[in-house]
Amino acid sequence: MAGTKTLLSVEAIVKDYSMPSGNPVRVLDEVSFGVQEGEFLTILGPSGSGKSTLLRIIAGLVEPSAGRVCYLNEPLTGVNPHVAMVFQSFALFPWLTVQENVELGLKSQGLATRERQERALRVIDMIGLDGFEGAYPKELSGGMRQRVGFARALVVEPDVLLMDEPFSALDVLTAENLRRDLLELWLERRIPTKAVLIVTHSIEEAVYMGDRAIILSREPARVISQVPILLPHWREREDVRFVRLVDQIYQTLTARPATADSVFARRRPTPVPPVRAGSLTGMIELLDDLGGSTDLYRLGDELNMDLEDLLPIVEAVEMLGLGRVREGDVALTDSGRAFAQASVLARKELFRDTALANVPALAHIRHELERHPQQRVGAETFLGLFERYYSPEDSRSQMETLIDWGRYAELLAYDQETDQVYLEAENQELESQTPSP
Ligand code: ADP
Ligand code: MG
Repeated sequence: MAGTKTLLSVEAIVKDYSMPSGNPVRVLDEVSFGVQEGEFLTILGPSGSGKSTLLRIIAGLVEPSAGRVCYLNEPLTGVNPHVAMVFQSFALFPWLTVQENVELGLKSQGLATRERQERALRVIDMIGLDGFEGAYPKELSGGMRQRVGFARALVVEPDVLLMDEPFSALDVLTAENLRRDLLELWLERRIPTKAVLIVTHSIEEAVYMGDRAIILSREPARVISQVPILLPHWREREDVRFVRLVDQIYQTLTARPATADSVFARRRPTPVPPVRAGSLTGMIELLDDLGGSTDLYRLGDELNMDLEDLLPIVEAVEMLGLGRVREGDVALTDSGRAFAQASVLARKELFRDTALANVPALAHIRHELERHPQQRVGAETFLGLFERYYSPEDSRSQMETLIDWGRYAELLAYDQETDQVYLEAENQELESQTPSP
């Protein structure tokens, strides 16, 4: 049910805390992501990674050291009026009844007493606390207390519901009941909430409830991966696709794959020149025709091209290890020569090998597609990674070039309609193995 309108965006948030020693410690490092309207987003990270800090920054309760939070593209200052928060520790006032605790959420809204009472009673009823309006927190079980926590957040009808590990202080069965009840309210649209953002350290909880999981590293927290969770509700934990997703996320959280994820996690990936595979192959053929090496100016003359247009092509040839530029001369490498002389199919193979070896971002996309249960990933997932280092336009251009190269090499396929990249052959194999949603 997620749409394409970004409600809330977290933009390059940094948080440094100063330690008793006086040294600053970075807890959050350029954390960025968007929350779409209609989306149930989960944030996963090891404990102590900064999840609560991040949620408090979104709620406007803690100020970031750098970066900003926007609501419908408007930067927020102070307390965020569009959100309400559910805490792990329930945070109820022991001297107030259930109803009074819930009404407290409405205190600042300047409503008449009567309306406040009516709204509180409606939510108390909806969340399954009917009959407990006059009870005090100490008379309630943990599960019932957390229901009060939910009611207090929902009574203000926030656009975005923020939850900080709301089930982790409950026993297994109680937690499961409450998850189901909340998910039902959300899926059946019985609450006007436009988006949900839940922080958790439980992978299963994220895969059970969410539309997407954002995975944070620790010390400092960075977004290391974003995993779309496309399984239809209600989800079965025994479902092979469920298990596979949990497994995939587990690996991302625990391991630090040497190649793929670190391409984006640690530094800006080398930009690929915006050159189509067709121009690349044409250039290599021409160089071969010219004896394998030539002067850049002569090449420009031959092609009737300005150096400005020529250079990106030469750069791409060089990046792929198919050519080399030295003092104004461009020469094919052995691989470049082999490529020029190969058949159409053999060329694709050569291109595939050299692209995977020399273009880490493309290797990353391929790797992610292989790991994905449906072997299909929205281009936006990768765009999000590029956008940590490049402008949205440059990110799109990077993605277009990589898709073009990937298609030529038959490393991936692209569906323009859904803006998804996918694996063709493997995808068919997968469909015959697993039941379709
Ligand atoms: P999580 O919710 O993922 O467990 P937190 O956001 O609570 O993580 O904390 C992240 C890190 O920031 C921890 O190392 C914690 O000790 C530190 N931290 C949190 N709040 C403060 C604070 N007010 N002052 C100093 N350090 C803090
Ligand atoms: Mg926490």
